[in-house]
Amino acid sequence: MGYQHVRTDGSAIELPVGKVVCVGRNYVAHAQELNNPVPTEPLLFMKPSTALVPMGEPVRVPQGHGSVHFETELAILIGEPLSQVGEQAAQHAIAGIGLALDLTLREVQDKLKQKGHPWEIAKAFDGSCPLSPFLTPACVPDLGDVQVRLTVDGEVRQDGNSAQMITPILKLLSYISQWFTLQPGDVVLTGTPAGVGELQPGSDLRVEIVDLLRVDTRAV
Ligand code: ZN
Repeated sequence: MGYQHVRTDGSAIELPVGKVVCVGRNYVAHAQELNNPVPTEPLLFMKPSTALVPMGEPVRVPQGHGSVHFETELAILIGEPLSQVGEQAAQHAIAGIGLALDLTLREVQDKLKQKGHPWEIAKAFDGSCPLSPFLTPACVPDLGDVQVRLTVDGEVRQDGNSAQMITPILKLLSYISQWFTLQPGDVVLTGTPAGVGELQPGSDLRVEIVDLLRVDTRAV
């Protein structure tokens, strides 16, 4: 069965399932923890729709390719086409707000980066984007103050606020739309706060938008 976007009440969202556009290094503290320079403009990459899996199902950790890192990110579901738009149009097009894990084969990525090659296989493999149900936009009054948290086996590992983003959400959507048309059903991942680490099979994961959305799942 294919992936389908859903609301937090479990109802299906009547949108197709499209691409996922992601931004790297959108929080200063995360760029620094991986010894990466802080970019001067958003660093974009994509995952195909085949990367999407429901976050509530056990998260499969790929084996045999080195460490698999979790990156907990605020996810924006797009409801209307966006091409070369400003921030106001971007805001109007938001159909949902949720959470994603941007799973990353860190050693594979490091090797590709050293060679100056694209990261694709380290970031866009099947199942690399567990995605939560989506809140309606009205549930999130201020996109500039959203607290995202990951707890692994009872220990808080990532805890960041959208206020810390280098490129805020609406500016990011506008920027993306200058390069790639965002289609209804596409998802934008807005970058990870500091605290990324290795995902171990057998770990219990709690992924949250604090006070608004919580997904309990398990790595296998
Ligand atoms: Zn990421």
